[in-house]
Amino acid sequence: MTIGILGGGQLGYMLALAGYPLGLRFRFLDPSPEAPVGRIAQRVTAEYTDKVALDKFANGLEVVTYEFENVPVEAAEFLAERVPVYPPASALEQAQDRRREKQLFRRLGIPTTEFAEVSGGLEFDAAIKTLGLPAVLKTCRMGYDGKGQWLLRTREDVEKTRKELPNAPLILEKFVSFTREVSLLGVRNRGGEIAFYPLVENHHREGILRLSLAPAPNLSSASQQAAEEAGRKVLEALGYVGVLCIEFFEVHGRLLANEMAPRVHNSGHWTIEGAVTSQFENHLRAALGLPLGSTATMGHSAMLNLIGELPVTEEVLKVRDSHLHLYGKEARPGRKVGHVTVRADRIEKLQQRVAELPAFFHRPEFCLEKAQMERAPDQLKIHLSTNLSQH
Ligand code: AMP
Repeated sequence: MTIGILGGGQLGYMLALAGYPLGLRFRFLDPSPEAPVGRIAQRVTAEYTDKVALDKFANGLEVVTYEFENVPVEAAEFLAERVPVYPPASALEQAQDRRREKQLFRRLGIPTTEFAEVSGGLEFDAAIKTLGLPAVLKTCRMGYDGKGQWLLRTREDVEKTRKELPNAPLILEKFVSFTREVSLLGVRNRGGEIAFYPLVENHHREGILRLSLAPAPNLSSASQQAAEEAGRKVLEALGYVGVLCIEFFEVHGRLLANEMAPRVHNSGHWTIEGAVTSQFENHLRAALGLPLGSTATMGHSAMLNLIGELPVTEEVLKVRDSHLHLYGKEARPGRKVGHVTVRADRIEKLQQRVAELPAFFHRPEFCLEKAQMERAPDQLKIHLSTNLSQH
């Protein structure tokens, strides 16, 4: 059985690694001849809009999925006429646009951040008036890792941003003084079976995920339940198949949905070693209509992203139960080139092991000082200004 995957980055790489034990083969399509999956699977280098290439790509595939949510919807629709495509193209379409995503949350009764649509200077002024400052302006499409976002704190920021408003649909969001950020990974298979992993606590810097703690420390069953209810509503409303990630802001125990990703997600990398079945394997099981694997955790995990540079392998591996993943990408500033997961059966032991990681990880970028693993959530104080970079 050969699975087709649109996008050939590290998420695709890890999907393939999870699928090989199940006897699966993989064929990737990516416009870049450098896509890392070329090392381990068949890679087709073509644009997502190249219908001749898509047609050839689909030949003989069991199912098609994607690891990159900005794949053109038309490509998913074109392929769906030839081979089953999961998650469905309609889910991809919803998740590509922040405005539609937020409207969906609202329609389903899922609390979300206050927002207003902006498509020009007049609407921008009106939105600022309604929501007040500070606020966050975001492009509706193609934003990721903090790109296409402006943090507006003062009138001067507003004036400056008005002059350079991009000619694209935008939304203005009220700035949320969240206690912390958490994400939910849910999965639904072709038969409608649903499973969730426990909420994960995430720390960002300059809009890029740096650290995930799983399960989120001091996780209340009420939060988990609220997140699962929201997740179930979205999965069912979209007739979703595969892994879906929903990111929330936790504000004194209340969850506000921020955005969703229709694919396996960086905040789920810990599941490779920290859960009975990884998000990657469950995504494949879901798309193939196989029974889902257990999402139970195996102890506590901390996942640290390697952005732009790599630590010394030996120094990471000498820490007990630490796992290094290198994506085979050339190290460049701002680029995700690998991650490390540290695991332990108790959170105190996890803290100890994280402390044993080399000095490379004890820099502010890794946000470890913010991950106060033992404190009650209300005491967590995250420096919000570091979470957004201005572009
Ligand atoms: P996003 O692309 O929406 O996930 O935004 C990237 C990061 O910016 C988030 O993970 C937050 O840390 C921060 N951020 C985004 N929107 C808001 C908001 N409305 N209030 C506060 N922080 C935000």
